[in-house]
Amino acid sequence: MNDSIAKTGLSLADAPLLRAQRVAAVAGKHAASVDREARFPSESIEALRNERLLSSYVPRELGGDGCSITDLVRQCLVLGQQCANSAMVYAMHQIQVASLVRHGLPQPWFERYLGKLASEQLLIASVTSEVGTSGDLRSSICHVETDGAGFKLRKDATTISYGSEADALLLTARRAANSAPGDQVMVFLPKETYRLSNVGTWDTLGMRGTRSPPALVEAQGSLEQVLPTPFAEIAPQTQVPFSHVLWSGLWLGIATDAVARARAFVRAAARQKPGTMPPAGLRLAEVTSTLQLMRNNVFDVAEESDERMQGSDNESLTDMGFVLKMNNLKISSSQLAVQIVGQALQICGIAGYKNEGKYSLGRQLRDAHSATLMINNDRIHQTNASLLLVHKDD
Ligand SMILES: Cc1cc2nc3c(=O)[nH]c(=O)nc-3n(C[C@H](O)[C@H](O)[C@H](O)COP(=O)(O)OP(=O)(O)OC[C@H]3O[C@@H](n4cnc5c(N)ncnc54)[C@H](O)[C@@H]3O)c2cc1C
Repeated sequence: MNDSIAKTGLSLADAPLLRAQRVAAVAGKHAASVDREARFPSESIEALRNERLLSSYVPRELGGDGCSITDLVRQCLVLGQQCANSAMVYAMHQIQVASLVRHGLPQPWFERYLGKLASEQLLIASVTSEVGTSGDLRSSICHVETDGAGFKLRKDATTISYGSEADALLLTARRAANSAPGDQVMVFLPKETYRLSNVGTWDTLGMRGTRSPPALVEAQGSLEQVLPTPFAEIAPQTQVPFSHVLWSGLWLGIATDAVARARAFVRAAARQKPGTMPPAGLRLAEVTSTLQLMRNNVFDVAEESDERMQGSDNESLTDMGFVLKMNNLKISSSQLAVQIVGQALQICGIAGYKNEGKYSLGRQLRDAHSATLMINNDRIHQTNASLLLVHKDD
């Protein structure tokens, strides 16, 4: 066993987590300027590349770490505690990698690309949103126009995070000009196969460093770049579970950071008056129990996802009870992140309200507010309401 790993008491399987902790230290140093200047967290992404973490979900035989979804959640959690923007870029990239690994392999084209991604540490962005469909993941207007073994497409996207900084895009489109809005495929676009234009602005309340403006994507390539599995299967088997679980992991990171700040505040108050309990002590006890609830929920669903993904039977991921559980994870963790940061703010008071200082919570609160909007919770409630009409209780 590697000496530095042995000293921590962690096993070799934890090595990616140690590497993520080193990246988190870099991310923390630059988090305030990334947020203030609404700039891409280039230092964190460079650190992720140096630590070879962009390929952590790529199978070992192709040069990656072969991490599980629970491993990725732990990494998102440590990054999220320092810089939610870096954690979100990392999570979104891993969702795209997972889609290629789980639905592109064993096609030789995707095997070659994943090997290249591992050796060159390439970053992939997502293009599911579209002008006219907004947050409806399962509907597209644009379509793939085939011409022999090649294709062309044009997509007007409302939101593409780090599109200008990415090395590739994974995009949803209708299968053909005469396909229904829900008959979608995923098209993988390495940099040399697309052009981004009409890139708009991204001046938002939070998640400012994800740099997610609207943009027009024009692409041309080979049909080998189209994932063989329909998006109707990729969405429930990979895109949705990975999004909900990894996002929840980083939102848990934001909440954990906020509670750590509140705890430091209460301890400092206790030191000033030894022998007495600071008034906010009770509130701190209360918020830690909410944090524990959130944490248990995130890891419970992550571990169940791993169990279900280990088998070759992808159908078990679309089991109605599990879909409800996964959707409920997204809804509850997006709400709890805001609630927990709010409770921490109540504890820290004006010191938390200030934009500077070790108890400041403004950035965490603004970042957390993106969570309920990123695939609007109302859409998920609507889906759950329909499922609950027919689902038999476990
Ligand atoms: C930080 C951040 C990063 C993002 N990055 C990306 C990215 O990289 N790539 C990408 O493609 N997208 C990205 N998105 C966009 C995201 O995936 C959604 O498309 C977007 O958040 C939806 O925006 P919306 O509010 O316009 O749309 P909608 O989801 O359409 O919501 C608009 C309103 O309509 C209501 N509504 C609409 N339909 C329903 C329904 N069926 N049931 C109930 N209520 C409904 C909602 O409640 C809401 O009030 C990102 C978003 C955020 C916040």
